[in-house]
Amino acid sequence: MPRATVARIDLDALKHNYRLAQAKAKAGTAQAMAVVKADGYGHGIRAVAQALADDAGKFAVACVEEALEIRAAGLSQSVVMLQGVHSREDVDLCRQQCFEPVLHNNLQLEWLAASRAPRYWLKVNTGMNRLGFRPEDLPAVMENLERVERRAELQGFVTHFACADDTASTMTQQQTRIFEQATGAWPSLMRSVGNSAAHFLPEQPLYDWSRPGIMLYGASPMIGKTGAELGLEPVMTLEAPLITTRVVRPGESIGYGSTWVADTETRMGMVAIGYGDGYPRHAGTGTPAAVRGQRIGLLGRVSMDMLAVDLTAVPEAQEGDMVELWGKTVSVDEVAGCAGTIGYELLTGVTARVPRDCR
Ligand SMILES: *Cc1c(COP(=O)(O)O)cnc(C)c1O
Repeated sequence: MPRATVARIDLDALKHNYRLAQAKAKAGTAQAMAVVKADGYGHGIRAVAQALADDAGKFAVACVEEALEIRAAGLSQSVVMLQGVHSREDVDLCRQQCFEPVLHNNLQLEWLAASRAPRYWLKVNTGMNRLGFRPEDLPAVMENLERVERRAELQGFVTHFACADDTASTMTQQQTRIFEQATGAWPSLMRSVGNSAAHFLPEQPLYDWSRPGIMLYGASPMIGKTGAELGLEPVMTLEAPLITTRVVRPGESIGYGSTWVADTETRMGMVAIGYGDGYPRHAGTGTPAAVRGQRIGLLGRVSMDMLAVDLTAVPEAQEGDMVELWGKTVSVDEVAGCAGTIGYELLTGVTARVPRDCR
């Protein structure tokens, strides 16, 4: 029998979340492309893309391998490649497969000029300072594209916000102003802004295509707000079985380093999941989990293949019960907070040892 540890994927919740993103985008004039990079944020890119195929007009991924996964899933939507291309050959592949790379440097433009062009986008650096052309360099870039006869395939301009998760920051407004000024000279071309967080900023324009990622999976993109408060439903429930229960006596410790020591008799359980499954090792004593619908807490250090929980609050819990590590009762954001990270990292970090069960 296989180990019961599993990541359950609720595709109805995924669709609900996508429709919320689409409704927010459409409140302006935008459509939402579904961002499914990093194996659909750890949920399984094929299943996620198939579930959204009737609703999403475009998908977005980081790299060509992910774009090919969407084709392997039997889907024909255009796929935006957010990191552009990594070789000249990739440009040909993009054209053949209807992938739309977001080109961000001169080398990529040289490859474009040397190939039959696919549809593509240009990345504008408005302040994130990871990728993209500076606004003041755009006129020259556009002239050059004209000269090498690659203007016809250009779809439009992309930029990415650095601080949209923080409503106290003025950075997003500043980036928006810079983006409008930079691209205003070409009103016939499309514009794409908006990670998930931007969908929750009331005054934020999303132009033609927004790019929601994390919100599709039900985790919160906003500082200080839960997914539930934003109307999102968790998509992944990470579960593992209780494989033993026991009472530890005062003075006894549990696990590596003996970091947790009982001060009273404590009924505890061992759960068959650990950092080898992507559960964060930095989640310490007290990190929430749930069994039989009730919240419990971790005890001591997370091991590679198992972790300990305190069953004091749920005396009826027994071996074979499934423990929720995150999902509908305990949000992934809460666990991430306890581990000093963000929901994105936990969701994308669930390892291949954990089967995904989609329904
Ligand atoms: C990952 C990514 C997104 C989606 O961001 P979320 O915060 O997950 O919504 C959008 N745009 C770009 C360029 C990205 O890299």
